Amino acid sequence: MEKTMEKIVNLCKSRGFVYPGSEIYNGFANTWDFGPVGVELKNNIKRAWWKRFVQESPNSYGIDAAILMNPKVWEASGHVQGFSDPKMDCKSCKQRFRADNLVEEHSKGTVSAEAMTNEELENYINEHKVKCPHCGNFNWTPIRQFKLMFETSRGTVDGEKDVVYLRPETCQGEYVNFLNVQRTTRAKIPFSIAQIGKSFRNEVTPGNFLFRTVEFEQMEYQTFCKDENSLDIYENTKKNALQFVEDVGLKAENLRFHDHDKLAFYAKAACDIQYKFPIGWEELNGIHHRGTWDLSRHQEFSGKPLQYLDPVTNEKYLPTVIEYSIGADRLTLAVLCEAYDEETLENGETRVVLHFHPAIAPYKVAILPLQKNLSEKAREVYALLSKKFMCEYDEAGSIGKRYRRQDEIGTPFCVTIDFDTLQDDTITIRDRDSMQQQRLPINEIIPYIAQKIEF
Ligand code: ATP
Repeated sequence: MEKTMEKIVNLCKSRGFVYPGSEIYNGFANTWDFGPVGVELKNNIKRAWWKRFVQESPNSYGIDAAILMNPKVWEASGHVQGFSDPKMDCKSCKQRFRADNLVEEHSKGTVSAEAMTNEELENYINEHKVKCPHCGNFNWTPIRQFKLMFETSRGTVDGEKDVVYLRPETCQGEYVNFLNVQRTTRAKIPFSIAQIGKSFRNEVTPGNFLFRTVEFEQMEYQTFCKDENSLDIYENTKKNALQFVEDVGLKAENLRFHDHDKLAFYAKAACDIQYKFPIGWEELNGIHHRGTWDLSRHQEFSGKPLQYLDPVTNEKYLPTVIEYSIGADRLTLAVLCEAYDEETLENGETRVVLHFHPAIAPYKVAILPLQKNLSEKAREVYALLSKKFMCEYDEAGSIGKRYRRQDEIGTPFCVTIDFDTLQDDTITIRDRDSMQQQRLPINEIIPYIAQKIEF
């Protein structure tokens, strides 16, 4: 079975995971809307992440900072000056590309473009006569830097508006609140601040469905520590980040670490976790040692001291930051790709099934009356179960077709109501993966499912 992005996109559109943004207006490039099934999936992934990194991690605190921040934040962070990608336009077909991507694709990953200057990128492209991937011509504009931050304005009078930015990453909200969180929680270093929220990037080459979009959600986790412990914390963060993505269902064989060749001058280490998407090995998340860079810049630009005072030693210092950042949409795409399967059944038919971890699955259980005149009892069961879990209710079509529909959205359990149910209050529960069925009393369904969907 070949897993292609096309199959996954088609399933997502037809089953209500994801629709093209503004579709009735012919869409709006690289924006996507999550439908009724997709929003459950993404919310479950975000909840699992929050549970792991906030609820279950000692000394971790969640925040939800504003998207629009004082523009000085983005001067301090370096984004106003430096957040741009090297782009080249093909003069023949007018398509736009990232010069570093052109080099990486041409060299099949043997040349590390991230470490190259614009001059080196341009020299490589000219020497190797790298052609336009779209039209095949060699007819490039020079490299120009393409600004990645979206600008908007604040103010009511034309001509008197101030430029503000849509945040391109969520972590600055964590940095500027570092002392607020530390003081109000009386946290001692090392401690972490977590946040889930929207970010916006005017990407040069968005695409590949949810992989790279102009608006996306990030789940970010910053650990503030003493520099002498920072490399241990960095290694630990790598381990926890990998464990999390394995626990949400990504197979170890499809995951790998990729250490960065080029480090920022303030960093001691940086790596990505890559996932083997149908488009190849690509970044899923980043783990970066950021030294004291961010806090020192905010201290300088705001004029406010951001040092931590150690209550035992009375030492005052700027902590080192270890950053872990993962895209919720990109992880949702990876989970969809991993879960997708086509199985040949005994009768020769193919069933498409999404083998989600039950904790991540959009709906936990579907309630299916065998016949329409059983719907009153089935509605009672629905009312009982929907107090605890996201449930589906379906009484249309043959039972076989209804099972297939649930398989395609990855519902781990189907409960059928038949005439025996009316007599003895038992139901049949079917397991999505094994397709095995068993009889259970109605009052045992909740503990049965609750135990299977633990994360
Ligand atoms: P890339 O090299 O893929 O552009 P990046 O190194 O710029 O990513 P970071 O700034 O480290 O990414 O962002 C952290 C995470 O946020 C990424 O690992 C990814 O999961 C997610 N992410 C970044 N940009 C996008 C985007 N345009 N669309 C969807 N997710 C994104």
